[in-house]
Amino acid sequence: MYDSAMTTRKYDLVVIGGGSGGLACAQRATEYGAKVALIESARLGGTCVNVGCVPKKVMWNAAQIAHAAHDAAHYGFDLALRGHDWRVLRESREAYIHRLNGIYERNLASKKIELLRGHGRFIAVGEVRVDDDTLEAPHVVIATGGRPAEPAIPGAELGITSDGFFALEEKPDRVAVVGSGYIAVELAGVFAALGSQVSLVIRHEHVLRHFDSMLGDTLMKIMRDEGTAIETNATPRALERDVDGSLRMLTADGRTLGAFDCVVWAIGRDPMVEGIGLDRAGVKLDDSGHIAVDRFQQTNVGGIYAIGDVTGRALLTPVAIAAGRRLSDRVFGGMTDRHLDYSNIPTVVFSHPPIGTVGLSEQEARDRYGAESLKVYTSGFVPMYHALTSRKPRAEMKLVTVGSELRVVGCHVIGAGADEMLQGFAVAVKMGATKRDFDDTIAIHPTSAEEFVTMR
Ligand code: FAD
Ligand code: NDP
Repeated sequence: MYDSAMTTRKYDLVVIGGGSGGLACAQRATEYGAKVALIESARLGGTCVNVGCVPKKVMWNAAQIAHAAHDAAHYGFDLALRGHDWRVLRESREAYIHRLNGIYERNLASKKIELLRGHGRFIAVGEVRVDDDTLEAPHVVIATGGRPAEPAIPGAELGITSDGFFALEEKPDRVAVVGSGYIAVELAGVFAALGSQVSLVIRHEHVLRHFDSMLGDTLMKIMRDEGTAIETNATPRALERDVDGSLRMLTADGRTLGAFDCVVWAIGRDPMVEGIGLDRAGVKLDDSGHIAVDRFQQTNVGGIYAIGDVTGRALLTPVAIAAGRRLSDRVFGGMTDRHLDYSNIPTVVFSHPPIGTVGLSEQEARDRYGAESLKVYTSGFVPMYHALTSRKPRAEMKLVTVGSELRVVGCHVIGAGADEMLQGFAVAVKMGATKRDFDDTIAIHPTSAEEFVTMR
């Protein structure tokens, strides 16, 4: 029953979640004249802006500066580095994010998108409740994202996640980062560059096991060379606090790791699917607990869609944005077949050095096309920048080609500049470029990228 304070409002589209995907979807819909409401329970911009890509990239930049400061003497600079103030960095970073939050809010207002602050949940198909308001719409998009996973082991609460990393007020001296994916290697790299003693704790032998193996192998060697301890085959069993306040990690095979001042869990993310009334609307999850959608982002219920991390496919900001925009193009822009192609999504791991990758790993290409139709080109070298420095992190590159026309189906690089190098090559791969197209492109010299067009 509604009491007198309750209101019901009608829209063309209601979006639950004001992160990368939700904002993009809502904004594109208004460009087609749709009346849109967007519900956000926390800070606008979602994970990426507040506790993801943006603050992470700021920290990565700080780590790059630390490396450059170390290298500077080899280029003749007489620098006296008196330390690093984590608090200053954190304050500047948070001020920047605060400015972004404001920009996002003003953008919504200028586009006449109604922003409702609160927790959105379905009460029925086409009806969403936020506090005392009921919003009705023929189209509802679920863009609620995810949150960091924590292991179900005793003492897990003594550790922090990536959210806690961004809340750290000072640099911990001894850190364990648990996990082998994007976040683990990125945060381990930041801590190490800014002077923490770092242990990366992984369950198997290699990091980044879902990427071409060359990338993880090279990164592990560089991380070890630069002082990070990598504990392999180590599955955490418990985390304990010692009398002196430090943390010790017990592993499944009986080892004790530590002492640590801080333990970071970086073991994946869980979708935000609880408490949003999916049962009231009859929306189904897939086997992995994400919202099940077809290629049009359509759930099993007509008029209800899901985009971004909550769908569990390629958890990346540009993917959430692209899915959201294409959905609005289809529903409000009349582009009936518009949908996101999830193949050949380029991605960068902001490790030190960074990794760029698009397309199939060598192993995936072998499994898909057969070893006989595969031809792989590689190049490994110390980038010219490091000719003068004491640090000698190598760059490694790989092109995976298939068939007699040598179509490039995978392009992988680790090394300085990989992050900015890959976007253009991703266009080429997406367009179906062949090795000959690469060879016919004049190199840009002297760069690392030129190796991609000179491989033999
Ligand atoms: P989110 O951005 O998570 O947005 C979901 C929003 O929904 C949140 O604001 C949340 O508060 C809100 N919400 C949830 N439930 C409700 C509710 N019931 N009512 C109202 N609001 C609700 N990706 C990259 O491409 N590049 C990177 O470099 C990168 N770095 C990352 C680093 C870290 C540490 C992390 C954690 C992630 C990183 N990502 C990166 C991934 C990227 O942040 C996500 O893929 C992206 O944010 C997903 O967007 P989304 O819209 O699906 O969800
Ligand atoms: P990932 O899925 O990348 O990696 C997590 C890894 O942790 C797993 O692959 C697994 O590796 C390991 N793991 C899982 N469970 C446990 C456990 N219980 N104990 C120990 N290790 C475990 O997740 P992340 O949390 O790193 O990041 C989440 C997502 O966010 C990423 O997939 C990515 O899409 C996105 N992201 C993107 C970034 C970018 O674009 N640069 C940066 C950061 C995040 P294994 O099986 O080898 O043990």
